Amino acid sequence: MTRAEERAAAQELLAEIERQSARAGRPLRFMEVCGTHTVSIFRAGLRQMLPAGVALVSGPGCPVCVTPDDYMDKAIAYAAREDVILATFGDMLKVPGSASSLAEAEAEGADIRIVYSPLDALRVARENPEKKVVFLAVGFETTAPTAAALVLAAKGAGVKNLFLLSAQKLVPPALRALMDDPAVRVDGFLLPGHVAVVTGTDIFSFVAADYHLPGVVAGFSPLAILRALTRLTQQAAAGEARIENEYESVVRREGSCEAQRVMRLVYEPVDARWRGIGIIPRSGLRMRDAFAAYDIERVLPLEVPEPRPRPGCRCGEVLRGIVTPPECPLFGKACVPTHAVGPCMVSVEGVCAAWYKYGQGR
Ligand code: SF4
Repeated sequence: MTRAEERAAAQELLAEIERQSARAGRPLRFMEVCGTHTVSIFRAGLRQMLPAGVALVSGPGCPVCVTPDDYMDKAIAYAAREDVILATFGDMLKVPGSASSLAEAEAEGADIRIVYSPLDALRVARENPEKKVVFLAVGFETTAPTAAALVLAAKGAGVKNLFLLSAQKLVPPALRALMDDPAVRVDGFLLPGHVAVVTGTDIFSFVAADYHLPGVVAGFSPLAILRALTRLTQQAAAGEARIENEYESVVRREGSCEAQRVMRLVYEPVDARWRGIGIIPRSGLRMRDAFAAYDIERVLPLEVPEPRPRPGCRCGEVLRGIVTPPECPLFGKACVPTHAVGPCMVSVEGVCAAWYKYGQGR
């Protein structure tokens, strides 16, 4: 498609969204629950293009943002040990714990290695047999299979000094928690394409069946997002609720059976704490007993204090789409990407960071 063709297609979709929003006869609010969608929406300025009756709000789609303080405090405490090397993706370095961050721990001498794939952690473990190498496994269904594959690879290779500190989370229970929250008002969900590659679309059917809300799995280009929003608006205007797949090139109803198999082999669902939302039943993943030898929390347990709210930070409400970042008194003042108070400003996929970088929306 040429740029002119793309522009024309976008205008057609926007006109259809406007028609359907008028037909709905009430303001519509749709929530995206994927950090990559958030960034695409802001980068393309889609919020500002939508008609007055349609608003987009961001949900808890950034895994770094929903990782609670006590997880970061544990990671920092493990990193501070002489016998530990911490392996992590770079986006975790500046995430604040309750008193410090991994970046500060590194400045104080902790051995922290930035990895680009979980398997890099296996190499670090092989190269440092006298140390315990702890990989920070943070993410949704998108990353859980690769973390599980890392554990299987370590077991298969007889590597005994590699461990996970797991904060893997599951998206469907979080959607349920949002819909059960009376403070959250949404008329449908732009469902996460990357997650759905693994889970498939059927797993989201409860959104329509139990809550009578539409959901559309979307790809990541601005046009793909507009197409999904068009389908959401059409359903909302007609009073219908279905799960549709607007990312059929890669997402199937049943998802990736192999990725699900690996995940199920290594992990089991447990209750998990989400920053700003609290504990959501069966929304996290813990390694099964057969793999306990790779779980640093069972091999080397340590206690950290219960997380306390961060004074002034409204990340919890931002992550539920209840307030927008500029409604936080710290936004753009005490809290900016180079000096973030909360995780929503640290991660490139965080809604506060997107809002700060790309400007306002609706
Ligand atoms: Fe928290 Fe900063 Fe976002 Fe405010 S602007 S909610 S302090 S991350």
